[in-house]
Amino acid sequence: MLDHVPNFVRSTVLEAQKTALLEELRSKGIRQEAVLRALKSVPRELFLPQALHGKAYTNVSLPIGAGQTISQPYTVAFMTELLSLRKEDFTKEKVLEIGTGSGYQAAILAAMGLQRIYSVERVPELLTEAQERLQRLGMAVHTRLSDGTLGWREEAPFDAIIVTAASPDVPEALAQQLALGGRLVLPVGTKTQQKLYRITRIHEGSEPEAFRAEEFQNFRFVPLVGEQGWREG
Ligand code: SAH
Repeated sequence: MLDHVPNFVRSTVLEAQKTALLEELRSKGIRQEAVLRALKSVPRELFLPQALHGKAYTNVSLPIGAGQTISQPYTVAFMTELLSLRKEDFTKEKVLEIGTGSGYQAAILAAMGLQRIYSVERVPELLTEAQERLQRLGMAVHTRLSDGTLGWREEAPFDAIIVTAASPDVPEALAQQLALGGRLVLPVGTKTQQKLYRITRIHEGSEPEAFRAEEFQNFRFVPLVGEQGWREG
């Protein structure tokens, strides 16, 4: 729809749509100003294929290639809030993301001022593109091509872990890589419907009593494929 209009008009239209989207997110309950500010400052269109730029500020998930999707802005905002990052000093928080995808979620964390962001992706071409985008925006994110169901052991423990693909269960490795007080936010369920969980490590040790689980509403994510996720195919 915006393909044949001058650049200036296009960016004005996108800005207006962005303002409306931020209002929509507020009305749906997103309250953390740092999260809303980050969504305002990161150009989501740069994380999308050219043909979808006109849809960047609609509250929908969109295809990014390799059968994967960039999450809905509401989902990104809601999950970021659930990470309960320490407002007083975001720079101290060490965060791991599983499923770099387009790099948008990582960019939101970087825009909030986080400086210790680690992100893992299993599809090589998605990771390469995401790295290029993040670099162009001057955002420092440590990335790695690997099976994220196993976490990133060398960099553990993490204050927060966000999984942006759906798992049949909580991958043990991820729970074990949480710092004391650390939060793991992830969708768990079937391949077509999941609930969001926040798992907080409340004690040292690996027994179930070391963790507290909270459940949030229904969402739909692409599958987490790996050793402690869904099998390929
Ligand atoms: N956070 C992304 C959303 C991408 S969708 C964004 O902001 O764009 C989820 C991503 O998880 C996909 O790119 C998919 O390839 C990836 N993924 C699925 N299973 C994975 C695994 N075991 N390890 C790492 N990444 C995985």
